[in-house]
Amino acid sequence: MAHVKSKTIPISVFGNVLKLLDSAASKMKVDPALMEYIKQPRRSTIVKLPVLMDNGDFKMFTGYRVQHSIVRGPAKGGIRFHPNVSLDEVQALASWMTWKCSVAKIPFGGGKGGIICDPRKLSKKELERLTRRYTADLIDVFGPAVDIPAPDVGTNAQTMAWIMDTYSMHKGHTASSVVTGKPLEIGGSLGRVEATGRGVMFTIRECCQNIGMDLNGASVAVQGFGNVGSVAAMLLAEEGAVITYVSDQYGAIHNPDGIDIPKLMKHIEKRKKVVGFRGAKKCKQEEVLFSKVDILVPAALENQITKANVRKVRAKVIGEGANGPITPEADAILHKKGVTVIPDILCNAGGVIVSYFEWVQDNMGYFWEEAEVNRRLEIKMVEAYKDVQEMSHSEDVSLRLAAYMIAIKRVVAILELRGIYA
Ligand code: NAD
Repeated sequence: MAHVKSKTIPISVFGNVLKLLDSAASKMKVDPALMEYIKQPRRSTIVKLPVLMDNGDFKMFTGYRVQHSIVRGPAKGGIRFHPNVSLDEVQALASWMTWKCSVAKIPFGGGKGGIICDPRKLSKKELERLTRRYTADLIDVFGPAVDIPAPDVGTNAQTMAWIMDTYSMHKGHTASSVVTGKPLEIGGSLGRVEATGRGVMFTIRECCQNIGMDLNGASVAVQGFGNVGSVAAMLLAEEGAVITYVSDQYGAIHNPDGIDIPKLMKHIEKRKKVVGFRGAKKCKQEEVLFSKVDILVPAALENQITKANVRKVRAKVIGEGANGPITPEADAILHKKGVTVIPDILCNAGGVIVSYFEWVQDNMGYFWEEAEVNRRLEIKMVEAYKDVQEMSHSEDVSLRLAAYMIAIKRVVAILELRGIYA
């Protein structure tokens, strides 16, 4: 088992994924040797990158690209620029992508990449040279039919544009489908920015219908007000939910009558932090996780609800906007308590689903209206939720275990058809 040493991820995320896979497999009839095969990353590449800095010196950087699985299709997953990137962390994140794409029933495997660097300390030109050198060194690893990167922590649409351009220059033709999360002008998809938060809303809405909770009037706490948290909050509010708590890395706010989310978004544009918003009172950050609300949406970081604090959680439903916000030990306790947890690989799959739509549109050379993207996203999310719900009901397991069981079942089914070239 890999142990990720990182300030932001103090608990081994890869270890958490392996534990979940073992729990799911124990409820299924899967050949243990096959299971061992699909748990391992298929290919991990390390590249050492000399980069010309603005002062004229060369500096060495280390980059990774992991293809966890290509059983269901090309490896798919983001590229992270962060000082704490490690091979173990990238392998864990790549594995997650395999199971997420499988639950979402999209024809992709799982991949992830990263470079050990602090992007805030590099100039735009240095970032461009680093990105291009990384892409050039991995030119035979990437490809629209092989391995398709996307943005992750520390990277963005501009990074994807540089990767797309470098790849295209080497191949001698424009290959826009080699990355997703691109700017619209070069083949990005409408609706991609909002896709993850929108998917969070769809799964919470389906869950409420299933457990007989009225989303209209339900109280909601949202941890993290970035891309995922802010869109989820806005769309849940549009469904009639009352957003009573919101937090970000700097602090938290509370209004028992509901926080006006569109106004909060305008406030954030100028002030960059939720504290100071006039329509709510400042509160302690931990109140967001432990307040008495109907629905909690952790949309910030990994390992927020752990064995040490899980007993303080009072929400009835938790929609995991973030990846891995609940540790396996805490998850088991929540399940016993009767809290419904919509697992990350289902709840936040909207982002990769619209990435898939972006790849499809690039390959067709024909682009959909935003309403069409959102309509197709809703169909995929509702279908995925129903599949997981049915498995959870028929096997009497949590939604998380059910999601992993479905994900494993689909990978194994394809392996059985294709056979193992051993
Ligand atoms: P982001 O950087 O846009 O936003 C993160 C938010 O979390 C910010 O508001 C930040 O202030 C806040 N935050 C950080 N530390 C916090 C703390 N200790 N307490 C409260 N808030 C804190 O990131 P994002 O794209 O919204 O991603 C959030 C999570 O969702 C991550 O786990 C990410 O891996 C996951 N995710 C994102 C996407 C996507 O498409 N963006 C897709 C799938 C999963």
